[in-house]
Amino acid sequence: MSDARSKNKGLPLHWKMLIGFIGGTLLGLCANFFAADTQWLATITTYVADPIGQLFLRLLFMLVVPLVFSALILGVVEIGDPKSLGRIGGRTLFWVATVTTLAVSIGLVAVNLVKPGTGLSAEQRAKLMEEAGKHSDRVASATEAAHNLSGLDVLLNIVPRNPIAAAANNDLIAVMFFALMFGIAATLIRNRATEHFVLACQGVYDICLKLIDWVIRLAPYAVAAMLFSVTAKLGLDVLLLLAKFVATAVGAMGVHFALVFPLLVWLAARRSPLQFLRGAQPAIVTAFSTSSSSATLPTTLMCAEERLGVPRRVSRFVCTLGATANMNGTAMFEGIAVLFLAQFYNVELSLAQQVMVLGLCVVGGIGAAGVPGGSLPVIASILLMFGIPAEGLAFILGVDRLLDMCRTTVNVTGDLVLSTVVARGEPAEAEGTADIEAGERELPAH
Ligand code: ASP
Repeated sequence: MSDARSKNKGLPLHWKMLIGFIGGTLLGLCANFFAADTQWLATITTYVADPIGQLFLRLLFMLVVPLVFSALILGVVEIGDPKSLGRIGGRTLFWVATVTTLAVSIGLVAVNLVKPGTGLSAEQRAKLMEEAGKHSDRVASATEAAHNLSGLDVLLNIVPRNPIAAAANNDLIAVMFFALMFGIAATLIRNRATEHFVLACQGVYDICLKLIDWVIRLAPYAVAAMLFSVTAKLGLDVLLLLAKFVATAVGAMGVHFALVFPLLVWLAARRSPLQFLRGAQPAIVTAFSTSSSSATLPTTLMCAEERLGVPRRVSRFVCTLGATANMNGTAMFEGIAVLFLAQFYNVELSLAQQVMVLGLCVVGGIGAAGVPGGSLPVIASILLMFGIPAEGLAFILGVDRLLDMCRTTVNVTGDLVLSTVVARGEPAEAEGTADIEAGERELPAH
């Protein structure tokens, strides 16, 4: 996405997003104030604003399946590499799963406590649901599917009968299961044919990143259109809800960053949290300013190896994989966003469904691309699964730059925490090896 910024002459994308957000909101508020319930306003929202928003959402949905499929296969193949697998791989997986689950849980507890999405009147909600239903058949069918599922079905449905049908129905977890199995098998049979397949997956992944780069350039216009449409219908209430949402998300990420990470560094890595923070500082600043784990990867590797003294074979494995697979901030944000929008649209999620959201977000942290806005397709897809109107993404997009900066910082810091934790007890780099490796050192191309 740095691409999007550098090649785009004029204003950087995040400023355009902010302008789109503020412009769409102000116009919508004016329309709501002066022309609520007029025919011409209904025509503009139905035939101009809503289709623009829908187009953007469709472009995002279009990328979900190929992105998740290729990213997961590449992730598994990387772990499965005989040279990297074994002790380091096992410990990495254990910590990724544990810390990400903890992160999402903190997020879900925060949304349940603060309830940032509640506060609309029944009338306004009914209006919103009616609009959402009008514009998306998929929302309706996903709602129906969610209602028809029993707990056992939910578990059984993780295994798709037909992966193509699962992809067509936007059944993300089944697609992920299929991709994981595919990746494991591809790792075990290493011959020319499977090597080519993995290379092709890398190609699909790179192409998806390029497409996200293009799609995200449309975001300012889509944000303006979607915000206009919603605020024209709802007025100021929406904005008040949004402020609570941002505060909840930033607060939950703050707890993870300032409490969970230092504790892990102290207890699991047996290091001083302050020294860790000092060592990680360049990566933290880069992550905050680029909003991309992948773009930060070279700095992350430099911090791990040179400033935190993590053995190179550990840092290369953990940080490279972590840039796409270990996303504490993203997974937490996905959970917060989904629950917020569920509250906003008054979609009741039972405890069992919330646990399912947790699982999806943990896997979703692996499936999201390490680029600005990389988690948006995953969020859109989880929303659909639970019958929550995906139009709600408009709220998130408007403030996404700030939240993306925060969650990328948590993601990258999480990679460095993980590398120090996994490195504990690993023998230090043998001097000869370190020199040889330093000579042929090559940073992964991202
Ligand atoms: N921007 C995030 C990252 O690169 C991904 C996301 O949550 O959108 O880590």
